[in-house]
Amino acid sequence: MPSAVFPHAAVDEVLRTVLARNPGEPEFHQAVTEVLESIAPALVERPEYVEAGILERLVEPERQVLFRVPWTDDRNRVQVNRGFRVQFNSALGPYKGGLRFHPTVNLGIIKFLGFEQIFKNALTAQGIGGAKGGSDFDPHGKSDAEIMRFCQSFMDELYRHLGEHTDVPAGDIGVGAREIGYLFGRYRKITNRHESGMFTGKGVAWGGAEVRTEATGYGAVFFLEQMLQRRGQGLEGRRAIVSGAGNVALYAIEKLQQRGALPITASDSSGYVVDESGIDLALLKQIKEVERGRVSDYAARRPSARFVAGGSVWDVPGELALPCATQNELDGAAAATLIRNGLVAVVEGANMPCTPDAVDAFRGARVLFAPGKAANAGGVATSALEMSQNASRQRWTFSDSEQRLQAIIVAVHDQAFEAAERYGAPGDYVVGANTASFVKVADAMLAQGVI
Ligand code: NDP
Repeated sequence: MPSAVFPHAAVDEVLRTVLARNPGEPEFHQAVTEVLESIAPALVERPEYVEAGILERLVEPERQVLFRVPWTDDRNRVQVNRGFRVQFNSALGPYKGGLRFHPTVNLGIIKFLGFEQIFKNALTAQGIGGAKGGSDFDPHGKSDAEIMRFCQSFMDELYRHLGEHTDVPAGDIGVGAREIGYLFGRYRKITNRHESGMFTGKGVAWGGAEVRTEATGYGAVFFLEQMLQRRGQGLEGRRAIVSGAGNVALYAIEKLQQRGALPITASDSSGYVVDESGIDLALLKQIKEVERGRVSDYAARRPSARFVAGGSVWDVPGELALPCATQNELDGAAAATLIRNGLVAVVEGANMPCTPDAVDAFRGARVLFAPGKAANAGGVATSALEMSQNASRQRWTFSDSEQRLQAIIVAVHDQAFEAAERYGAPGDYVVGANTASFVKVADAMLAQGVI
């Protein structure tokens, strides 16, 4: 019989164990704490989850692979990076999640991302488990030949852990079309199999899906639209503050513009640009996707824009905030500034970009807040559509694929919205997304026994 303190005592014990067993991994602690602290109502209703050790199993990856990645730079010097793949949970389907190449990558970062991915993937209802991987390799400033040699060496180890029914990676920070091409090519060479379904985000000409490039950014805006609609509001004419200038940010800006909103900022690790007449997306894409330049280049070529070195993009007033760069980029102080400046809604295009005190501030101010695991699920959902097309040897059109993406995001939104109501936290998309996805994963784990 559940006790009066149940399930909080059980959650506290699991959290204590996570902290003790995974020292030096603050992002992983943060992600686990946020999920476990918000699913108490589901645990009260279904005490068998606790009795079957679901929580203890959920926070421990099924498999973690760490490996050496040696490669030779253009000056013939040998370089050594670290490779990671954390296969977190496959109860709902093959492991699925991106690869990140960035100097800040370490095991704790990959574990936080892999843990989040379990729940995000469950929300898409596409039958995919959760994983993440990457390396502390920094693609900035490397030649194409160096990128290729690194990707080949990375795949020389990773290939043995992949497969369309086992584990299917995709891109993330620092891993775009170029890197995916080199990684897929090496896998094909090693295995002697053109196994399209083992990687998503491929070029459209060789097994990739329409809309995969746009999916995460577009999906975040579809989610935002749903949240606003529930309050009888829309996107038209609203100033949007967007951070990042990579894949997610560029296509969030594109969809915001298509819906009549006014995105006025973009950023990268050097600073941010603000363009009061609205971002010129063709110019920004040219600089970021073609020239691989910096946002300061945008300001240099656009008279209405100014570049602010360093600083916080969240100082710029706007009604919509879309953090689309990286984890913990929006803290409590930035949240307070945004709220003072008339913020209406926040959508996490990136994974966990808002710190816990920022999220508390949004909740306190009744600002609409969409957590990343729900709002940026469009990328992985479209990856799952890519897997379906690869398996059936079909190719869907851009508009068909976009409609499917939108339908999935509407369903993700509605699940989170309804779960929040059902579990006593109406309007709280954090509670809604976490409980709705947790129940799906926990039910599958329960049915499949103690493994
Ligand atoms: P990209 O590499 O395409 O772009 C990342 C952008 O964020 C760049 O402008 C980069 O600037 C900036 N950035 C990255 N790290 C930092 C940092 N530490 N400080 C300041 N700026 C930083 O990555 P994506 O757009 O693909 O990913 C962005 C976020 O969205 C990540 O959190 C990712 O996990 C998440 N996401 C991505 C999905 C996808 O489909 N791509 C799916 C779901 C979530 P700079 O070039 O100067 O480093």
